[in-house]
Amino acid sequence: MKTKQILWSVIFLILGIFIGGWGIYSYAQDMIMKNLPIGIASLDEKDSYIESVPTSTLTQRKYSSSSKAKNLILFIGDGMSLSQITAYRLITGGSNSRISVDNFPYSGIVLTHSEDGVVTDSASSATAYSTGYKTNNTYLGLDSNKKSLENLTETLNRFGFVSSLLATSEITHATPAAFAAHIDLRWKTDEISSQMLNSKVSTFLGGGRHFFLPENLGGKREDGRNLIEELKDNNILLTTKEEMLNLVPNTSKKVFGLFADEHLRNIDTPENHIYEPSLTEMVQFAVNRSNRFVDEGCEGFFIMAEGSQVDWAGHVNNLDYLITEMKDLDTAIEWALEYAKDNDDTLVVVTSDHETGGLLIEPANPVDYTSQGVKISFNTAVGSGTHTGVPVPIYAYGPGAENFTGTLDNTDVYGAITASLDLDEQNGSCLTE
Ligand SMILES: [Zn+2]
Repeated sequence: MKTKQILWSVIFLILGIFIGGWGIYSYAQDMIMKNLPIGIASLDEKDSYIESVPTSTLTQRKYSSSSKAKNLILFIGDGMSLSQITAYRLITGGSNSRISVDNFPYSGIVLTHSEDGVVTDSASSATAYSTGYKTNNTYLGLDSNKKSLENLTETLNRFGFVSSLLATSEITHATPAAFAAHIDLRWKTDEISSQMLNSKVSTFLGGGRHFFLPENLGGKREDGRNLIEELKDNNILLTTKEEMLNLVPNTSKKVFGLFADEHLRNIDTPENHIYEPSLTEMVQFAVNRSNRFVDEGCEGFFIMAEGSQVDWAGHVNNLDYLITEMKDLDTAIEWALEYAKDNDDTLVVVTSDHETGGLLIEPANPVDYTSQGVKISFNTAVGSGTHTGVPVPIYAYGPGAENFTGTLDNTDVYGAITASLDLDEQNGSCLTE
């Protein structure tokens, strides 16, 4: 509190008391409250309560949908709950501005716990979305007894759909991996990338070349295989945005767009950024490529696009990083929403797997609710900052969008998706292998 303000506050207080001026007195009181120094508490000093949660049985919702979509674009903002969305809205346009998700006509709430934990990791949560089953944290495409579960891209392949997985992390990361792999540990990237080669997914776009290359070639594979060379035999490898934009699309071969050694927009490799597409560019490519498959006989398409690094910004407690990643995701969602408005057979769903960082939005001064200033803080530790157990929002536009309302378990999202898609006939794969 500044000396001048202290002095004036005291003068006003005394004046107020002696002349009985209630207005002057309360003005002085207000002034003192607004200028009180704010204690900087460490995380340990905050009030916290360790509670053990009772066990309970999950009841899944049943879905049926009268309107059916041919195509689904599913966005997953990893680590994105309402506070990340709010922070982005406030910083980019202010309280009255609206971002892409604000324009979706249907929205709901998703409960995110895993089979073995109140707080989920990305592997378990993405497995709930891709299979409709709860599983343990770190498991991908397996139930909690490690039994393999058919995932959405495998189911859709049987029904003649074409699938794409896009991420701004390594493509082997947990969220995309849950839609293509079956493994009990999300860090087994050798197995995940190998399984992606044999999966029913036609297009993979993201980072992660190092997870396809052996260690002796600078990569991170421990099994010594050079998957980059192996995949070139029967698939198409893209390593730059230019190659992606120029790809002659008359091929049904699998496309692996691996635009960085690790994740996209890696601050340690700024020289590579010009070769990396934005999430919007990847979504546009996947939609165009999918539409060619549909023109040639596929029933429809599925695209999962992940804003992967919203989560990482939460883990490292970095607001600028969070806003950059939210913008990349928001722009892609905006484009997809416009696409769906022009193509009424397309359903767009936006959700998240969990919240990361315990992001809090407070008045800049905790006793002043009249200010336009906000204090945005992460409330889980820096660096190892964790996921939290708060629910995440879900937004939907297009045929079947009404299924994504109310409170959903994360396994219900799978049920809502399959009820909303036109899965009448098992025509078998529409892809020429
Ligand atoms: Zn995370």
